[in-house]
Amino acid sequence: MGMKVFTGIDIGGTNMNIGLVAEQGQVLHETVIPTCPSNGPEDALSRIAGSLSQMLSVHHENLDCRGIGIGIPGLLDTEKGCIIEASNLPGWQHYPITDTLSAKLNMPVFIENDANLAALGEYWLGSGQGAGNLFMITLGSGIGGAILDGGKILKLHPSAGEFGHMIIERSGAVCTCGRRGCLETYVSKHGFERMFREKLSRYPQSSMQHYEAGSVTPQLIAIHAAKGDGLANLIFREAGDTLGIAVSNVINLTGVSRIIVGGGIANAWDLLQEPVMRSLEKNVFRSIFNGVKVCKAALGEKAGFMGAARLAADSVMKS
Ligand SMILES: [Zn+2]
Repeated sequence: MGMKVFTGIDIGGTNMNIGLVAEQGQVLHETVIPTCPSNGPEDALSRIAGSLSQMLSVHHENLDCRGIGIGIPGLLDTEKGCIIEASNLPGWQHYPITDTLSAKLNMPVFIENDANLAALGEYWLGSGQGAGNLFMITLGSGIGGAILDGGKILKLHPSAGEFGHMIIERSGAVCTCGRRGCLETYVSKHGFERMFREKLSRYPQSSMQHYEAGSVTPQLIAIHAAKGDGLANLIFREAGDTLGIAVSNVINLTGVSRIIVGGGIANAWDLLQEPVMRSLEKNVFRSIFNGVKVCKAALGEKAGFMGAARLAADSVMKS
């Protein structure tokens, strides 16, 4: 018998991150392969199986892989091991992912929503270590949110966790979901773009005057904000303040005390932190606020596959 390991896989619309993770959390091997979602799940799973067999053989069979966890961006049937709905993986619905991969590799396979697994990864090995409960936010092209209580994913319905579509403003801007005033109309990629478009004419001196709204990203606005541009700083203050209101609602409702902010936009955390904290201080009930800790995610892109490996370890242990 070799060293006990678990495989974590994070399937995205573009790439799949695969990692071999030891029982104690050391990452022994990791690789990235393209998803090619339009080739269908059968093709992707065959390539995952090939890649994993190769990774295990490099270690001269000293590794004893006990199970596989997979993070998938979408609404899943985790019991049946299939996707119900995933906009980035069209045509993958109802395909038996866990059964197919399990038959190919002869080991148990488990799936879970990717945002939940990123939270689990941070809880295990990142900024959530030692937290009794946590709320993980992922800020990217969309916004994800997941709550863990004692290391367990908290959800009462499989499609719960739509933090990005928490309504902040009753008659706000129209969101990609069709409703109005969602958090995503402020803090996501298109939220930053919208604020830029709406405020540009009021800042004729801005160093961002020559940009087209369609080419503006949160990263670009962050660069200008760091250089002191008034418009860019206003956008970040508004985004941070709005995010703070949404997080305050979650804290007041659940009492969650560790807040972890991850995803691409979290790279600009030094610009968001102050308005977020000011908003929390104003909006969270005093008795709860004193115990709240807000921090940036620590694992970056790796959180997903690390959480997936932990899901596999926990699930194997339970069965
Ligand atoms: Zn929405």
